[in-house]
Amino acid sequence: MTSTWTEPSNTATALLLLGRGSDPASERGVDCPGDLPAPSDPDLVARATAAKAALGDRVFVLGHHYQRDEVIQFADVTGDSFKLAQQAAARPDAEFIVFCGVHFMAESADILTGKDQQVILPDLAAGCSMADMAVLGQVEAAWERFEDLGITGEIVPVTYMNSSADIKGFVGRNKGVVCTSSNAQRALTWSFEQGSKVFFLPDQHLGRNTAVLEMGFDLDDCVLYDPHKPGGGLTDDQLRNARMILWRGHCSVHGRFTLDSVREVRERVPGVNVLVHPECRHEVVRAADQVGSTEYIIKALDAAPAGSAWAVGTELNLVRRLALAHPDKQIMFLDRTVCYCSTMNRIDLPHLVWALEELVAGRVPNVITVDEDTAANARVALDQMLALP
Ligand code: SF4
Repeated sequence: MTSTWTEPSNTATALLLLGRGSDPASERGVDCPGDLPAPSDPDLVARATAAKAALGDRVFVLGHHYQRDEVIQFADVTGDSFKLAQQAAARPDAEFIVFCGVHFMAESADILTGKDQQVILPDLAAGCSMADMAVLGQVEAAWERFEDLGITGEIVPVTYMNSSADIKGFVGRNKGVVCTSSNAQRALTWSFEQGSKVFFLPDQHLGRNTAVLEMGFDLDDCVLYDPHKPGGGLTDDQLRNARMILWRGHCSVHGRFTLDSVREVRERVPGVNVLVHPECRHEVVRAADQVGSTEYIIKALDAAPAGSAWAVGTELNLVRRLALAHPDKQIMFLDRTVCYCSTMNRIDLPHLVWALEELVAGRVPNVITVDEDTAANARVALDQMLALP
């Protein structure tokens, strides 16, 4: 059966697809130490296959759902960030965990794996713009403001999985919990049993969408703490009265979908089902037919009847893969233009080949390590998530 997939048009934004370019103002690391194979090398697939075979069970390759096809074909397991970290922890015999994803995911894998395992990120420039929007110093400054107001005793900090190890450590130190897009409601329910307010990091949209659409809060119960404004841009009374203090962070990929994208696709494709991720803006989620995590989106499309039409608001690599896997359904990207996660895209086949061949040569490149104290505190918040009722 022929696929109905249509590629969105290109944006004007240049993507640093091969990780050779640099944007030092916005990325964690931009250099790849060592010579990358040329992307035009016709032997890249054979080289990756040979290196992986030479390493055998010593290496375990994880591939996030948003990774490119050229990388995903070498993944031993695919999944969202938490599932991948759990899979890494379930493979204590693998010396090397090659994480085809972004920096915070590799940190989580390092936190959950054994001391003798090393987690490798094939391109150190693969950060996450959302995770980078909450820096520990900023978050501690906000907490001090809450302390000055005398409200920290009422506040439970909650951080989305998509945050740095530092932030997870902060949340663990302050008796909070980590959440994913699948369990955010359970995490908030638990948190409101511990205190009367939640400080939600770093994704304002997931926090707001969960509180308002799943837990019955009003939009007025939520305030937005902007770390770039004095005092977060909030008055003392706003902070005292708020139930949800949302950090001003967002995903640059999911944040691009607009109400116009939803209206446009409904006009163009009568009967279309709009399915979006909860990292999308509140008005987009409200206008959609269904909302759910990456794993939810995959299951919903697997279960959808043949002939049904779906406009999906999540990362393009995944939507394209799902469209090609379901040629009997009309699956399209919610936006008209390309919306890759540019940092996820930095992990390409040349970087994967380079990382695997370095391991074969006895050198361990791009190891991601979280210090003991941070890891111990982050584990408290992660364990609390695993213990959620
Ligand atoms: S899709 Fe968004 S949240 Fe996920 S890694 Fe990319 S920027 Fe971060």
